Amino acid sequence: MPPERRSIVRTGIGFDSHRFAPGVPLILGGVNIPSQNGLVGHSDADAVAHAVTDAILGGAGEGDIGTLFPNTDPSNRNRNSVEMLQVAVERVESKGFCVANVDIVVIAEQPAIGPHRAAMQSTLAHVLHVAADAVTVKGKTNEGMGWIGRGEGIACIAIAGLAERGSKS
Ligand code: MG
Repeated sequence: MPPERRSIVRTGIGFDSHRFAPGVPLILGGVNIPSQNGLVGHSDADAVAHAVTDAILGGAGEGDIGTLFPNTDPSNRNRNSVEMLQVAVERVESKGFCVANVDIVVIAEQPAIGPHRAAMQSTLAHVLHVAADAVTVKGKTNEGMGWIGRGEGIACIAIAGLAERGSKS
């Protein structure tokens, strides 16, 4: 009897952080969150979308967000990060993988993530082509410690599970 072919399961991890600034939008996981402070970066500074993008690209062995969307490219300025995540999903899927699940931790003193969790999960699940319960967003404070504790910015960690896509032929 021939050896059973093993299905391929892979994981990837992503991390991102961005600095707060007054008077700019706060977009996390594709959701516009009412806040006095938003995040600044080359794109729209959506740290959640960036961490998820790196997690799925890493799992697929497809580099990282900086390689795919260099910040030296003017077309990436103020770019919608959910749109960048969409491109990463297409790349992962074209390599023969699908996203199985994504688990995310947002670390910030403010704002509270809980009230926006469902919207973020739903937005990300749609882009990732998974069911809503395959994306989890968890909010944590940093207990007042360090730069996160001083409210200077937000950090985000994401882990993604990828599975080999079933044959559609
Ligand atoms: Mg970023």
